[in-house]
Amino acid sequence: MTTPPPTSTPPSASTRADRIAALGYDYAAQPREAVASCNLCGRTRFVVLSHQDRYGYAVEAHACETCGLVFLNPRMTAAAYGRFYDGVYRPLVSAFHGRLIDAVTIQDEQRAYAVERAALLAPYVAPGAKRLLDIGGSTGVVAEHFARAFGLEGTIIDPAPPELAQARALGLETITGLAEEHDFGDRRFDVVALCQTIDHLLDITAVLRRVREVLVPGGLFFVDIVDFRAAYLRNWSVEQAVKIDHPYYLTQETMRGYLRHVGFEVLRTAYAADRLHVSYVCRPAPPAVGGTADAAGAEAMLREVRFVQNTPRPAAAPAER
Ligand SMILES: [Zn+2]
Repeated sequence: MTTPPPTSTPPSASTRADRIAALGYDYAAQPREAVASCNLCGRTRFVVLSHQDRYGYAVEAHACETCGLVFLNPRMTAAAYGRFYDGVYRPLVSAFHGRLIDAVTIQDEQRAYAVERAALLAPYVAPGAKRLLDIGGSTGVVAEHFARAFGLEGTIIDPAPPELAQARALGLETITGLAEEHDFGDRRFDVVALCQTIDHLLDITAVLRRVREVLVPGGLFFVDIVDFRAAYLRNWSVEQAVKIDHPYYLTQETMRGYLRHVGFEVLRTAYAADRLHVSYVCRPAPPAVGGTADAAGAEAMLREVRFVQNTPRPAAAPAER
């Protein structure tokens, strides 16, 4: 038996651009809407930061001049995002990374995520806590781990029925829908989690207000962000840090601004092991009076963006991950 001669590139090893093009997703044809005012501070003056996302789609990321909140503008409508998550999102992320990423393959990653975040939360969960609400909880891997670790009854609210079916199989209560629209009546929760979800929301303020409404007094809120600064610094590219899946790009400054604005006190902040996410353990507090804008933070970010856009990548920086 002879070894076959080396062949040309196998068909599976296409380039990233080819794989994305092969999906045939026409982003330019999707209905979009302009963002008229900043979701965090309400102001209307924005700086256009970039013109393309990591997939190559023509999309602008804007930053609010006043508070530094970064968001896509215009961005897809809620209906267009609904269709995007129902069949485009996972194949697009798979095409980008060149390997299959779906609701099944992400579960190992989610288990590791759940263990790391549960350790962060553990010192703060009250001994008598009973009920957990996981907003955007997907297949329930994280909620199931939190529920088991802390002896809580877990409930998930998520718009995707196929993922909720998996969550039910784990023994979790499921609600199909969006937290900002669902009527929780007089139900209250001891712990509310918003895991790897906030960057995907269309109205962060509305969701955070809802979280505060459904938390018991002294309840615990866990939220984490993809830190936009970490994303552009590791890629040394703003375009590579922007993706149509995320309407919002939070930083430590803007996330703290949101928490102050809606009325949360941060008990602990943690940089995740992946060096990309930042986690916050919070509890309700009186909302900040007056402005929530961090003008110095906004200015510093804009200067840093400009530096990254026009300075060669430092030699010691890791390759794109
Ligand atoms: Zn703003």
